[in-house]
Amino acid sequence: MKRILIENGVVLTMNQAGDIHERGCVLVEDSRLAYVGPREGLPRDLDARRHDAAGHVVMPGLVNCHTHLCMIFGRTLATNTDLLSWLDLQMPLMRALDAEAMLAAQTLGCIENLKNGNTTVVENLFAPRSDSVSPEDSAFAAMENTGIRGVVARAFEAMRFDPAFVETPAQQAQRIRSLHARWHGRAQGRLGLSFGPLLPWTLDESMLRASRALATELGICLHMHVAESREFNRIIERHYGRPVRNVELLHETGCLGPDVQAVGVSDLAPNEITLLAETGTSVVLDPQTRLFWGTGFPALTPFLEAGIHCGLATNGPAANCGQDLFESMKYACATAKTAAADPHALDARRALRMATIEGARVLGLDRRTGSLEAGKQADLITIDLRQPHLVPAFDLEPALVFSARGTDVRDAMVDGEWLMRGRRLTRIDEAAVLARAEEMAERALAGSQVRRPRHRTLTPQGTPHDD
Ligand SMILES: [Zn+2]
Repeated sequence: MKRILIENGVVLTMNQAGDIHERGCVLVEDSRLAYVGPREGLPRDLDARRHDAAGHVVMPGLVNCHTHLCMIFGRTLATNTDLLSWLDLQMPLMRALDAEAMLAAQTLGCIENLKNGNTTVVENLFAPRSDSVSPEDSAFAAMENTGIRGVVARAFEAMRFDPAFVETPAQQAQRIRSLHARWHGRAQGRLGLSFGPLLPWTLDESMLRASRALATELGICLHMHVAESREFNRIIERHYGRPVRNVELLHETGCLGPDVQAVGVSDLAPNEITLLAETGTSVVLDPQTRLFWGTGFPALTPFLEAGIHCGLATNGPAANCGQDLFESMKYACATAKTAAADPHALDARRALRMATIEGARVLGLDRRTGSLEAGKQADLITIDLRQPHLVPAFDLEPALVFSARGTDVRDAMVDGEWLMRGRRLTRIDEAAVLARAEEMAERALAGSQVRRPRHRTLTPQGTPHDD
């Protein structure tokens, strides 16, 4: 049996009691946590490899409940447009991705998440229809290779979308069944599959009902963008030809429930929040992306008061230009306080729970990950407190939420394996991934006819460049 003892750090467990152990110990046996607590609880003659975490916080790896790594090459393109125009601008670039480019994009995205301390990530993947290329295989392969815990949430479009992306419901069902058979539960349960429509107007009621039936049959989650903005609800009314709101539509078609993740949720009426709460539906919040687009943000307090589970997300790297969940925590607090005009609206402790155990629960993964408790998989990170912006840290939880950032994460472990130590990735040659990603991004940009931004300052080789 392989044993690792992480000692001398401040251990933030995120367990139900919220225990924090000063100079605590975490014992990892193979892929699981065997002990979390004070040193006195350990046998004296323990045979284990030691990891000194003095000056560091040891906490559960963060859970990024929603991103689009498939769009990572669109980072910094069209940063001053509205959401739907931005999507139109990104589509040609996505059409230009072949399997090689998709693998490079997904690998880049996985290591960006790991280096920000996100040990679990949900990749909401959408891609053009193809008989020869399987973008999902690229996404799963990147997760398998990098060691991150990952869910591919396959988004689909059955009508009213870029024609290259549209599939019939039968084609979608076949794709989901095939992916489920090949990938769901692979890598000792580290990989998983979920699915859902990309946008509510890319299908109709019968297709929503069919999606629910398939998710129930396969025992996997539905993962969907919901009521992202007022415009969303206006488009839904037009598309469905009646005054129905997004959550009402999902309720009518059976698409709410404890196995459903509603992403965005910025324009909900009070009755919709009640429907989410009554059905046990979870929400996923990406406050910095909402602010980035200027589309308004959810008030958050009504979700908390209704007892709805809230996960946090970065959304795609092209949508807010980063994958830092520490930002999401900070902005969640800031937007909740602003919306409620109340500084108590969301505190750092709850924001940390949303980024860890509550996020894991939203994904149905809380038995495996999200807190440091004996018996769970060993998914953890360490954060270096000995830095100017983290001194003094009189109160640890606010320090992590309001002062820390993703680059403060020093080490990351998933399933008992160190994937990053001292900010160096252990499985992956980071320089090679970055070089490959730049090469593939350049190729995709050239093949897409998307205009290169005028003020680009450097070529991949680092020489000044201006067109
Ligand atoms: Zn999204």
